[in-house]
Amino acid sequence: MDFGFTKEQEMIQKEVHNFCKKELTPEYVRWIDENCDFVPDELWKKISDIGFFGAHVPEAYGGEGLGVIESMIIAEEIATASVAVALGMGATTLGASVILNLGTPEQKAKYLPKLAKGELKFALGLTEPAGGTDILGAIQTTAVDRGDHFLLNGQKVFITSAHVADYITTIAITNPDAKRTRGLSIFLVPRNSDGVKTRLIPKLGCHAAGTNEVFYDNVKVPKENLVGTLHNGWYELLLTLNPERIGTSMLSLGVAKAAFNEAFEYAKQRNAFGGPISRFQSLQHYLADIAIEIENARNLIYKCAWLCDNNKPYHIEACMAKIVAAKASEKAAIWGMEIMGGWGYTMEYDMQRHFRDYKQMVFSPISDEMAKNMIMQFMGYPKSWA
Ligand SMILES: Cc1cc2nc3c(=O)[nH]c(=O)nc-3n(C[C@H](O)[C@H](O)[C@H](O)COP(=O)(O)OP(=O)(O)OC[C@H]3O[C@@H](n4cnc5c(N)ncnc54)[C@H](O)[C@@H]3O)c2cc1C
Repeated sequence: MDFGFTKEQEMIQKEVHNFCKKELTPEYVRWIDENCDFVPDELWKKISDIGFFGAHVPEAYGGEGLGVIESMIIAEEIATASVAVALGMGATTLGASVILNLGTPEQKAKYLPKLAKGELKFALGLTEPAGGTDILGAIQTTAVDRGDHFLLNGQKVFITSAHVADYITTIAITNPDAKRTRGLSIFLVPRNSDGVKTRLIPKLGCHAAGTNEVFYDNVKVPKENLVGTLHNGWYELLLTLNPERIGTSMLSLGVAKAAFNEAFEYAKQRNAFGGPISRFQSLQHYLADIAIEIENARNLIYKCAWLCDNNKPYHIEACMAKIVAAKASEKAAIWGMEIMGGWGYTMEYDMQRHFRDYKQMVFSPISDEMAKNMIMQFMGYPKSWA
């Protein structure tokens, strides 16, 4: 058993760490949070130029063909510097992952080289207004075969980065008579298609990864934009959702680490009763407990990445990682604020941003309650919902 990174992985970590130190300074990250509804173009370009979008794209399509562990190393560093930037990047990776997993050779040749260069942005349009947890029951968006195209009508909600995406990867009903799991298909919908409209939904945190309603009104989608097998989109999409859980766990870990680091440094500087508050055992215990949760989450996330890279099942561990990492971010943000007292609550420090950012991780992409339901179902208990 080996818990260490390889030399190559250590180099990647160092490179991303240095990139973040230079390009994602605390001042710039604050500015982004206050002013941007997506990753600024100049930053996106720098991230693209250094090759982060190509990390997981096969070499045959202009990427580096790296594994999930390497992608998580990149995500960990960026999410610790700015979870919103990591989330904005992640939305593209996620939206495009159907092409990697299910695309035809023509689709791969068309999209992946541009994806690797950061020239395309994607979003994943799954959730609908009737609910995200009961996603199958909620889906009403339809795609009707009209000969040379599909005609899409319906609405999605909470879709990260849909307002800037070149393509909104959209799940729609193609066979209304079949059981829902057997009647869905996946489409790459160009955002600039006639009939597509997006509306940004104001939200508490992760501002630079804007979240949208998407409206489809008689949208003509070319036949070649169907990804995967007609009517089998649900099962095929599930292939992409487990890695998503590893990635979103890493976003939570980034928030947890950032909040811990800020509280840790603050406690050393702030004095009370004639010395730094860091000497008080109760505050040290808060920090120790956060550090334990961070370590647990990190180990579980990298274990999932390792399992995934080694083609071993990891669906239970991915649900566990999602919960443990979300809890770590919650504890770090809440207790971090406690450690910083009044200043933690002001807009003068970053703790308030971590406090706003962590909450998204608790119920998205799935809520902790649903992740626990799934763990028990995977362990053989009867399905407790539906
Ligand atoms: C900021 C943000 C970004 C997002 N980005 C995307 C995106 O890019 N693409 C996308 O497709 N979706 C996205 N989502 C949607 C996200 O996946 C859903 O919000 C999530 O699945 C929860 O669905 P919901 O919000 O409709 O809550 P609901 O499904 O209404 O759930 C409400 C509460 O009921 C509980 N609940 C429901 N059913 C059960 C059950 N059987 N057992 C126990 N508890 C249950 C839930 O745990 C939760 O606490 C995003 C959401 C947000 C807020």
